[in-house]
Amino acid sequence: GDEIKADMVDELARKHFPACMRNLHDNLKRDHHLKHFGRLQYGLFLKVLGLSIEEAMLFWRRSFSGYTDDQFNKNYKYNIRHSYGLEGKRANYPAKSCQQILTMDQPGSTDNHGCPYRHFSPDNLQTALLSMYSAQGLTSADIPEILSTVKAGHYHVACTRVFEITHANRGVKKGEGVGGGESITHPNQYASRSRELEK
Ligand code: SF4
Repeated sequence: GDEIKADMVDELARKHFPACMRNLHDNLKRDHHLKHFGRLQYGLFLKVLGLSIEEAMLFWRRSFSGYTDDQFNKNYKYNIRHSYGLEGKRANYPAKSCQQILTMDQPGSTDNHGCPYRHFSPDNLQTALLSMYSAQGLTSADIPEILSTVKAGHYHVACTRVFEITHANRGVKKGEGVGGGESITHPNQYASRSRELEK
């Protein structure tokens, strides 16, 4: 995609991110820290979104504001470079798909990675969705449908429904999904379609 800058991430998160990435972003802002799997899930997503290694370094350094340069360089720099294929095996790691996020590396109670539709309790999911998306038109009247979809185990369908509701003002109708009735299968697909609709 297009290049994005470190100082654009906050606005992009509020306007275009699916719940998994918005949750990681909000926790990072609140705690000035994310644990390993959270950094991995969010970092690879941001890479694919268009954050260069230089901008990624800037973004993570600023976000981890409670750490000295020395601590940051020692504990976090290598992993960020690694996810850009600049260390170790030098592999070009793709961002995780919904399927991978839903089934791999199950989050514990102090983790922020994973998929909120799958890994949050119904109460926490409801609170989180309203706090993330009421600015984009999600209301408490939408919640029962979303929770019953989640209860049936159709997490990506719930995520797709939230996409439709929060992009209704861009002309997206129920059942249309990310276009042509397609459901969300990847967080980057959610974000890029959302950005496309804004143009
Ligand atoms: Fe993220 Fe996929 Fe879950 Fe949506 S369904 S919140 S994009 S992991």
